[in-house]
Amino acid sequence: MSAPQMPELPAEVAAAVERAAMPDFDRWHEMIKSAGGCEQPVRLRGERLTVDGETGELIESYSTADEPTGFLITGCGNRRASRCAACAEVYRDDTYHLIISGLTGGKGVPDEVSGHPRVFLTLTAPSFGAVHARREKAGKVLACRPRKDRPTCQHGRQEGCGRRHQADDPQAGQPICADCYDYPAAVLWNAHAPELWRRLTLAVPRLITAELGITHKALREQARLSYARVIEYQRRGLIHFHAVIRLDGPDGPDQPPPAWASAELLARTLRTAAAQVAVDVPHPGGEGRTLTLGWGRQLDIQPIQVAAELEGIADKHVARYIAKYATKGAEDSGTVDRPIRYATQIRALKVSEHARRMIWTCFALADLPAYHDLRLRGWAHMLGYGGHFSSKSRRYSVTLTRLRQARADHAAHAARQAEGLPEPDESRATITTGRWTYLGSGLMHGEHFWAEQARDRVQQARAIRNQITESENQEKAS
Ligand SMILES: [Zn+2]
Ligand SMILES: [Zn+2]
Ligand SMILES: [Zn+2]
Repeated sequence: MSAPQMPELPAEVAAAVERAAMPDFDRWHEMIKSAGGCEQPVRLRGERLTVDGETGELIESYSTADEPTGFLITGCGNRRASRCAACAEVYRDDTYHLIISGLTGGKGVPDEVSGHPRVFLTLTAPSFGAVHARREKAGKVLACRPRKDRPTCQHGRQEGCGRRHQADDPQAGQPICADCYDYPAAVLWNAHAPELWRRLTLAVPRLITAELGITHKALREQARLSYARVIEYQRRGLIHFHAVIRLDGPDGPDQPPPAWASAELLARTLRTAAAQVAVDVPHPGGEGRTLTLGWGRQLDIQPIQVAAELEGIADKHVARYIAKYATKGAEDSGTVDRPIRYATQIRALKVSEHARRMIWTCFALADLPAYHDLRLRGWAHMLGYGGHFSSKSRRYSVTLTRLRQARADHAAHAARQAEGLPEPDESRATITTGRWTYLGSGLMHGEHFWAEQARDRVQQARAIRNQITESENQEKAS
């Protein structure tokens, strides 16, 4: 009779058990938990000293040489959910708080801000050629692009499409004829979208002064325009802008807006501005021609209401929507989430054919002197767009830096409590210096399991907390 065999553990679990048996595991586990289970944790070596600013007395010292691990872990802080789910969640939470505090108050913004006129704006790109689309009417999927006379384009392809595309159809957003599609103009539009946005934010105050018959100086003394915005990639590879736009008193949300300020005025001037604003660029066809880029005709403007029952859109809904897009990249348009270095890589990229053409076009245009400044090679993976995913004007609400500092302070406080250390004397002037060396990033053998577990735990805690806030809000409302 042979001895009973132990069932063999799956390799991943065996590695996790092995890691847990190492002497530095407890401390490492603690660090990865406080990094929220980051998928690409950064390992640092170094020290931090806090001294009294007047006497030079050493108040606190920390060195990774005293750590069982020999290093300190911090989260990668990546905004993109496709790169690090844990850090993207933190970013999404922060963005939510940043947006909602500009709508309902909180985090240093007075509650009165909820009475200021504000709208939710969606701006689109114009069309650069027909694309397959899912069309729906009253819950029924309609034909993509029905054409009775069945015309063909100059490339001999059908101009229409009678299919009914489902939501997950990979064809949705792809051009009906890639050779008819104006790729250079599409890429140049993405590249100039930040400039179109900037011109829009300048045009609105100009239109308000014209309508009221007041000078710019008078406007600055009475009101201020604040905004927070994100971009979203459509499947056709062009970007949308979603923004909260608000009218405040001259110094921002702390001051009441002037009596003439209204959501209608905001909506009206935004509509006019979106139709007027344009950027002229050298035409890709050359010969001294100009290509004029403007916003698409489709735009949506809705007043943001405190409660959803009124006409308009609810503030929490807006904040959730914006926070969701803040952690996305361009992946939804079928491209990749990191820069492409060489043209030779493009052929092998796992991207949609449409995205591949956009990327090729970026590389091709980048070589033309007229477009050098656009750095289209560097932004090819973004299909030409080189701006920020989210941004806000200075006085919209709290900043992400302040939210992060508040979280760091809270964590430091919790750590001191756990170790029974006294709170620092706030009245004392201190100087903190640190010297850090980057050791590397990523998870090592056997660590993935534990990081995933930490991530799950954070996720659960977040879900419970959200449920509690939700029921508290319902209680408040009833
Ligand atoms: Zn991370
Ligand atoms: Zn179609
Ligand atoms: Zn064609």
